[in-house]
Amino acid sequence: MVSRLILVLGDQLSPDMAALRRHEPGDLVVMAEVGDEAGYVPHHPKKIAFLFAAMRKFADSLRRDGIDVAYTRLDDPDNAGSIPGELLRRAEQHGTDEVIATEPGEWRLIQALDDCPLRITQLQDDRFLASHATFQDWAEGRKELRMEWFYRDMRRKTGLLMDGDEPAGGQWNYDHDNRKPAPDAVAFSGPMSFTPDAEVEEVLDLVARRFDNNFGQLRPFAFATDRGQARRALTHFITHALPRFGDYQDAMLAENGFLYHAVVSMYLNAGLLTWQEICTAAEEAWRDGHAPINAVEGFIRQIIGWREYMRGIYFREGPDYTRRNELGHSRSLPWFYWGGETRMRCVSLTVAQTRDEAYAHHIQRLMVTGNFALLAGIDPYQVHEWYLSVYADAYEWVEAPNVIGMSQFADGGIVGSKPYVSSANYIDRMSNYCGDCHYSAKTKTGEGACPFNLLYWHFLNRHRDRFAQNPRMSRIYANWDRMDEDRRRTILSEAETFLNRMAQGAVV
Ligand SMILES: Cc1cc2nc3c(=O)[nH]c(=O)nc-3n(C[C@H](O)[C@H](O)[C@H](O)COP(=O)(O)OP(=O)(O)OC[C@H]3O[C@@H](n4cnc5c(N)ncnc54)[C@H](O)[C@@H]3O)c2cc1C
Ligand code: SF4
Repeated sequence: MVSRLILVLGDQLSPDMAALRRHEPGDLVVMAEVGDEAGYVPHHPKKIAFLFAAMRKFADSLRRDGIDVAYTRLDDPDNAGSIPGELLRRAEQHGTDEVIATEPGEWRLIQALDDCPLRITQLQDDRFLASHATFQDWAEGRKELRMEWFYRDMRRKTGLLMDGDEPAGGQWNYDHDNRKPAPDAVAFSGPMSFTPDAEVEEVLDLVARRFDNNFGQLRPFAFATDRGQARRALTHFITHALPRFGDYQDAMLAENGFLYHAVVSMYLNAGLLTWQEICTAAEEAWRDGHAPINAVEGFIRQIIGWREYMRGIYFREGPDYTRRNELGHSRSLPWFYWGGETRMRCVSLTVAQTRDEAYAHHIQRLMVTGNFALLAGIDPYQVHEWYLSVYADAYEWVEAPNVIGMSQFADGGIVGSKPYVSSANYIDRMSNYCGDCHYSAKTKTGEGACPFNLLYWHFLNRHRDRFAQNPRMSRIYANWDRMDEDRRRTILSEAETFLNRMAQGAVV
């Protein structure tokens, strides 16, 4: 006789999840690969395969620890197709109506559990440094929710990179050292890769059969799929890449999409790694003299700063956050985001890398695909759905504030005090994309002018009312106003032509 069901979701693969800590003899853990979760957006096949394989291995490890697990595979004939459906099925099978769950990272699923006619307790997901209450307390009464102030509190709270009350090295933030352009070569072989074992191969076959039409290359598949492997991937990064992480954090290279990035977000978000072990390992590397402070501080800031802050914003802003559209953008996402042809080499390379790896690093997401979508006025909800689909680390609690907030300014400036837009100049400086491009980064109008150059001014001009008074943007508007009137007219009309051609499906 089963006393209670303990729900473990696909991104809750930590042995000390809040719900699992409540496990008592007689309880049954429920895990399920369901069509609703695999299909509410067209996830990248690598992401689905990673999660199913990691879930199966996690279930095995629970069983080895003597815990009863009812695991439903995607192709099990009785599969109810949704998480509430599976809970209802298991509840009926085992004669119980009590469920202990850990709160999902998405409003959609929280609501679905609330609506499910069983006695479900949703416990706080305490894998994070800042609980909902901690973030609310921090945000309460502030006019602006700037990440930097939140981050400093998190440094104090954790003691990471602190010497007493003071930041280690004397500064809170070493970002000014972290903006080096693309190096000629990268002295890092890339993230650790893992040969699929029989269990992973079985999942790959299933995903190949069922998700054949989704955007993304399933094989070769080299992700870690259990905690031991994820730990090795982390050690590999700390040993070989962390020392240069800071310097080249913002750089982009056509030949190497990973540079010195950690490529651990999918493991961290799914529960295979913890923020504590990642940050402690990074801090130790600095204290041992293995990695410089600018690299380690920059890296730790991403995790206890940006990551926690983004989650705080998502839960504070509520379920309608993904529908925000403060700039009123309504164009359709161009086909080239799904692999169609484009002559913009930066976009084409970033999308191709995304298709192959289910990964792009932060600046590719922000300053190439995100920047273009914002400049071109694409409907932010469509942009959000794209990002949620194509990256192996994408879950709404972290993806939405990055996309709707940071990248598309669709929340009206909660996450960012100004929009992240740039002309070709930034991409040209930080990457080697432009050299072989059909367009010219240096050309501002006419034959071969880079679309980023045209759309940059088009964006600023169409949102003048909103941004001209922003102190961080007034100089840009002054430059625009100083331009010859004819030149301004030409830029705007060429930008319009570009947008119209794009909307008609021309290869741009
Ligand atoms: C438009 C856009 C969409 C994004 N969508 C996601 C997403 O769906 N899931 C996701 O985990 N990250 C997302 N990010 C943040 C960031 O791009 C990824 O976390 C990072 O690229 C993951 O690769 P990495 O492990 O090599 O990270 P590194 O560059 O090595 O950074 C280390 C870690 O810091 C954390 N981190 C860094 N930046 C952020 C950030 N802005 N927000 C939250 N965590 C951060 C990640 O956990 C990451 O693993 C997005 C950023 C942008 C601009
Ligand atoms: S020239 Fe323009 S479109 Fe081409 S790679 Fe550079 S920024 Fe991208």
